[in-house]
Amino acid sequence: MHADATPSLLVRLPDGPIAQKQPSEPFYAIWNLLESVTDPEIPVVNLREMGILRAVRQTADGLEVVITPTYSGCPAMSQMHDDVANALSGAGVAARVLTQLAPAWSTDWMTPEAHDKLRGYGIAPPHASHCGASNANVIQFATRKGTANADPAVACPQCGSHNTTETSHFGSTACKALYRCLDCLEPFDYFKPY
Ligand SMILES: [Zn+2]
Repeated sequence: MHADATPSLLVRLPDGPIAQKQPSEPFYAIWNLLESVTDPEIPVVNLREMGILRAVRQTADGLEVVITPTYSGCPAMSQMHDDVANALSGAGVAARVLTQLAPAWSTDWMTPEAHDKLRGYGIAPPHASHCGASNANVIQFATRKGTANADPAVACPQCGSHNTTETSHFGSTACKALYRCLDCLEPFDYFKPY
């Protein structure tokens, strides 16, 4: 029974293409099912687009859905787990939900669809993380990159102007900063790179 020692990774994002999934496989239905599970704080974006949904895989003990919540300090974290579990059980799917905290979630994992939807929702999408693409660098949690003026200008999601200014480092949630557009004068949230 050596074959079951390591779980086989059937679908994985964003490292592996979705195209690898086969309609005949049980995880295909799970993947589609989970398309309807949205971020608790941004209801227009689903967990796959956020990069939170990491894998649907077959283990020796059955199907397993792996999620990496956005911010480990976020109260939404357990809600994401419960939302996925409820979606699965609601559809009669027997699968475990595993919350994986390392490597830590990064805004770099958000898909282009997520960026578009955020903008449409009035939130400026995050720039690329300063910490680089290294998923192994979980220390980035503790780093606060000095001054805001080192960052490229944040575009206003309303009018597209780059003539914007940060009015508060913490917006509606700790994950976001509050900005104001100096052209259309609208305040908006900026999803901070992480
Ligand atoms: Zn504007």
